[in-house]
Amino acid sequence: MAEVESFTLDHTKVKAPYVRKIETQQGPNGGQIVNYDLRLTQPNETAIETAGVHTLEHLFASLVRDELDGIIDISPFGCRTGFHIISWVDYTPTQVAETFTRVLRKIRDDITWDDVPATVAKECGNYKDHSLHSAKEWSKIILEQGFSDDPYVRHVVQA
Ligand SMILES: [Zn+2]
Repeated sequence: MAEVESFTLDHTKVKAPYVRKIETQQGPNGGQIVNYDLRLTQPNETAIETAGVHTLEHLFASLVRDELDGIIDISPFGCRTGFHIISWVDYTPTQVAETFTRVLRKIRDDITWDDVPATVAKECGNYKDHSLHSAKEWSKIILEQGFSDDPYVRHVVQA
């Protein structure tokens, strides 16, 4: 089986919330993409409820693209402790951490249900499974801890 970098990470050593650059990949026909580990909760201790992670996914899709160019995808981990961010642009973990600090603040303070994109059956694969309440509560918890731009040492960014 192919070796996947994320599976070689020692999940017992990291200190969430953090942003980590996983890798830069060169395309076979040119160009490069960057893959980040956006860890929101401490692995094997807590995980975000499915409905909350689903609403965060919809909000990140729109709010992060308002702030950063070249975003290809922001997808939740199956363990529900964070997201992969795939980008054409090579941002530093600090820049990504600052962006998500601002985005979570917006979700916590400003976003209402009418702002959540794609919450009807036509636009979403499981439209009944959303929770803005969970997304807001987790935003509050994550912001209280702050995003570190180092996965192993708490170095919280200001934004
Ligand atoms: Zn959906």
